[in-house]
Amino acid sequence: MVGKSLWQNLKVLVDFDKQILNLDKEAETSQKAIADFSLQISKIKHALEDKKSVSVQLKKQIDSLEKQSKIFEEEEKHKKAILDKIKTQQEYKSLENEINFARREKMNIENQITEYWYKLESIQNGLDTDETNSTKKINLLTQDIQVREEVIKTCLDKKEALIETRQHAAKNIPAEWLNRYERMKYSVEDPIVAVNNNCCGACYYAILRQDVIKIKQAGVLPCRNCYRFLYYNDEEQKDLQSAQF
Ligand SMILES: [Zn+2]
Repeated sequence: MVGKSLWQNLKVLVDFDKQILNLDKEAETSQKAIADFSLQISKIKHALEDKKSVSVQLKKQIDSLEKQSKIFEEEEKHKKAILDKIKTQQEYKSLENEINFARREKMNIENQITEYWYKLESIQNGLDTDETNSTKKINLLTQDIQVREEVIKTCLDKKEALIETRQHAAKNIPAEWLNRYERMKYSVEDPIVAVNNNCCGACYYAILRQDVIKIKQAGVLPCRNCYRFLYYNDEEQKDLQSAQF
């Protein structure tokens, strides 16, 4: 009777530990998803900032071109004003050339300014749409993050409750077996398996006759091959045998 309750109590712990492990995995998946969503948000923000910085650069270039155009305009005005005071034909011709040059330069700059304005306008039109779309995407991702954070919180709460109940269940197991189990619980799947036709139920290693007797007496014995805990379940064995005949 004592023996049987040992493996049954150990199996209770196995069930708790499986649930705890699943909760850990679920929380980890959500943690990874949060990291992924945060990265997406940061990429969206950066892409928008890049576009904004291009538009700022264009504005600066336009400002600078406007200043240059003003300089040529002033030069043209100034030279036109002194044109009447010129005495010789040669000086007149030369000044006229300079005036024409200033006018041409001003026109070239103005054409460039118009071109830059078109570019700026198209970027700014796109920016409005981009900003709206980015805000929508960021809001959705933020909601996803909140959902995942809730999942993690629920997992932690459930885990805490499980650990507490598990502590009570562990009190039913002798310290020696509890320590052995704690050392190997996550190293294999199904750490406690039933003996099946005198073989380990997991790795099918044949169990020595004297070990089968020991298992029946002590309740649990580690498999010599896979180190899982073996137990002997009278009910299961009877069912197996009746199924075979
Ligand atoms: Zn085994």
